[in-house]
Amino acid sequence: MNGSLFAPERSAIVRVALPLPVDELFEYAVPPELDERAQPGCRVRVRVRDRVLTGVVVERTDRPQFEGRLLPIESLVDLERMLSSAMLQMLRAAATEVLCPFGIALAAALPAGSAPRTAAGYAITRSGRAALAAAAVTGPDRSLLEALDRRPRTRTDLGKLGRAQRLDALERDGLVVRTSLLRPAVARVATIQCASVASGVDVESAVAKLLARAPRQAALLREIAAAREVRARALLDGFPDAARLLRRLADRGLVELTEKRAARDVLGEPLEADRRVSLTPDQTACLEPIAHAIRESRSETFLLHGVTGSGKTEIYLRAVSEALRAGRQALVLVPEISLTHQILARLRGRFGDELAVLHSGLRPGERLEQWERLRAGATPIAVGARSALFAPLENLGVIVIDEEHDSAYKNDEGFRYHARDFARRRGKQAGCPIILGSATPSLDTRFAAERGEVKRLVLAERIGGRPLPAVEIVDLAQERDRSPRGRMVVLSTALRRAIADTLADGGQCILFLNRRGFSTAILCFDCGATERCRNCDIALVYHASDQYLRCHYCDFQIAPPDRCSGCGAPDTALVGLGTQRLEEEVRGHFPSARIVRLDSDTARRRGFTESVLRDLRGRRIDIVVGTQMVAKGHDYPGVRLVGIVAADVGLHLPDFRAAERTFQLLTQVAGRAGRDATPGRVIVQTFDPGHYAIRPVLDHDYEHFYTEELGYRRALGYPPFGRLIRALITGPDEAATRNASLELARLVSAVAADGSDQELEVLGPAPAPLTRLRGRYRYQLLVKGPPGPLLRGAAETLAKATAGLALPLHASVDVNPMSML
Ligand code: ADP
Ligand code: ZN
Repeated sequence: MNGSLFAPERSAIVRVALPLPVDELFEYAVPPELDERAQPGCRVRVRVRDRVLTGVVVERTDRPQFEGRLLPIESLVDLERMLSSAMLQMLRAAATEVLCPFGIALAAALPAGSAPRTAAGYAITRSGRAALAAAAVTGPDRSLLEALDRRPRTRTDLGKLGRAQRLDALERDGLVVRTSLLRPAVARVATIQCASVASGVDVESAVAKLLARAPRQAALLREIAAAREVRARALLDGFPDAARLLRRLADRGLVELTEKRAARDVLGEPLEADRRVSLTPDQTACLEPIAHAIRESRSETFLLHGVTGSGKTEIYLRAVSEALRAGRQALVLVPEISLTHQILARLRGRFGDELAVLHSGLRPGERLEQWERLRAGATPIAVGARSALFAPLENLGVIVIDEEHDSAYKNDEGFRYHARDFARRRGKQAGCPIILGSATPSLDTRFAAERGEVKRLVLAERIGGRPLPAVEIVDLAQERDRSPRGRMVVLSTALRRAIADTLADGGQCILFLNRRGFSTAILCFDCGATERCRNCDIALVYHASDQYLRCHYCDFQIAPPDRCSGCGAPDTALVGLGTQRLEEEVRGHFPSARIVRLDSDTARRRGFTESVLRDLRGRRIDIVVGTQMVAKGHDYPGVRLVGIVAADVGLHLPDFRAAERTFQLLTQVAGRAGRDATPGRVIVQTFDPGHYAIRPVLDHDYEHFYTEELGYRRALGYPPFGRLIRALITGPDEAATRNASLELARLVSAVAADGSDQELEVLGPAPAPLTRLRGRYRYQLLVKGPPGPLLRGAAETLAKATAGLALPLHASVDVNPMSML
């Protein structure tokens, strides 16, 4: 600034991380008009060979490392920094830890957004500012420069100030520069149309006078009047032609149509009235150390271990309030979208609408808008799924991770971070505690508590001393042997009777089917072959609705064949059990019940899951037949019976966490029963009633399961004792894929051999449990061993080698994998 007044501007250089599988930064020159805005943490569009990519500015420099002419950045995506320097640093460290190129991690952390629109305009230059400061310009030129000093403007804008004709001269003198002006990247903010009765209109007299010959319009007007204000779309249920009717009514001046910002939509209805409660002594004991940590800005991890209904959510709310009181912010994470609505309702009830919501169900524009609200400091609370962890909250006071055991907290592709690990990083950086809440904590977290790394707080009982549901076990093997012709039994006598009793009492039922690894398939009675997908080598699933066999991975579909495609025998049959078949079976037994199916098929419709859960809560449904989706969620007071149709199916998956997942899932599902005064009932149907992951569900005995499982893990060196690294190698040609895997195994075995005293085990390569997927063969390679430099070395070796694989082969390396299929 105090250099020579009219010195030519020296263009700055930025180092940009790009979403490419290379771990290096790319240098670009910054055009003067973007100079001020191209700051670390902003996204930019830049040219890489013949493509234009979006990257993130990581740092600025005036000394390029690249020798040669630098390309300029093409445009800016963000008007403001999206990521603070602290966040950039944390992301870089996390990316390194999980062996992910920085640019790919950054792309995963930021909300998707489009480049801003640009308009031609003018900006003041550094020389222009200097001239202003030195009072070197006067009169109209001065007022023009002053206007531009406040912000860049278009020529039209400046024309309105009456000064546009001087622009060319000022540009020649280097005091102003042509620039492209940016409009914010926020994609159109969605609006919703609302209808209300126009002011001053008396509905009944309008109906009598004006609408005597238009009964549909009259009915619609009454409906609108009854609701005061309604969303136009909500009228479609009763009035399929609502759009036309509304226009007529608006033309007559009877109805007023307004466009409202859809932000409310993002928060989702319904709003729950807040219940002010005083904490129980147990809750107080749990909250106290948390509140302490918040007040002292101490980064500490708490495991809030409490059965369903024990008041964990109330503690989250109190912790949030404590953080707000300390002038800080709060971040609440839930494993998936359908759960955001429930916790959101409770948060809104207590803290009002000043919440930001972040999850993948939002449209890009909506997500960006929420992000902007947080960054602008418009709201101190963010709620969302995994990726909300990267939300721009600069003064965090607490992080809550609800249902911390859920595997959805691990990102399974690209930037393979685990939300728990990243939360710990953020907590350290911000100086704030983390609350991990669960009724069935992950073995990892529970074990960390045992080792004193995490402080465990226990809520052993349900609020108000309500009993936990009574769990009964039905042995399906016995049931089958008793049934005529040894047919597979879907609904045991005990379960059918329990459903009937529950319905007769006015209660609701949930029938749960663990879909993973178990669905309706076609089986040949002669050779035992199932019809499998040609691309993915998994059993095709029969869909009764359109009578097709479909692959649940690649969507391949065929009509069921007449003969077995393996041996040609005509004797094939549908076996197994899908939710559709279960639904039919239930309908057969209970024809007058209101039954809804909730699984990945029906949930594909936007909003369907939420509406089912809402109806369940509002007691407009008698029986829900569903998969994992019904296992989660908080409060369904009318659900008195939960039937777990086939408890053990998940146990047979080739995954060392199969038992843990099964126990957690069953316990979660069982916890759905009996949340109001009436104790609930749970019936577990299983072929393996004595299994250590099923038996303890009977008496809600987490510790029993934990101890047993921990013993197995210790004996086999699985997490939380040893660590795993998984490499997955895929390719269209089986031999080539196998050879590449063998080569990787050879490389990593050499690393393992270095550590004479520490033992690393290299398992495989072997075909992955999902041997073929979308036309590609899959091989996996596992490295198992104690955490430490040797294992780290093996992981790095793998990452480097896999990055060098030539297409069409592809490989990925997963540090601490959650999915083993
Ligand atoms: P969790 O999250 O462990 O399932 P919640 O916090 O949802 O438990 O509590 C279960 C129910 O008990 C909720 O309806 C909640 O409003 C109520 N509740 C929680 N704490 C108290 C309390 N101290 N006194 C009375 N009711 C409470
Ligand atoms: Zn397939």
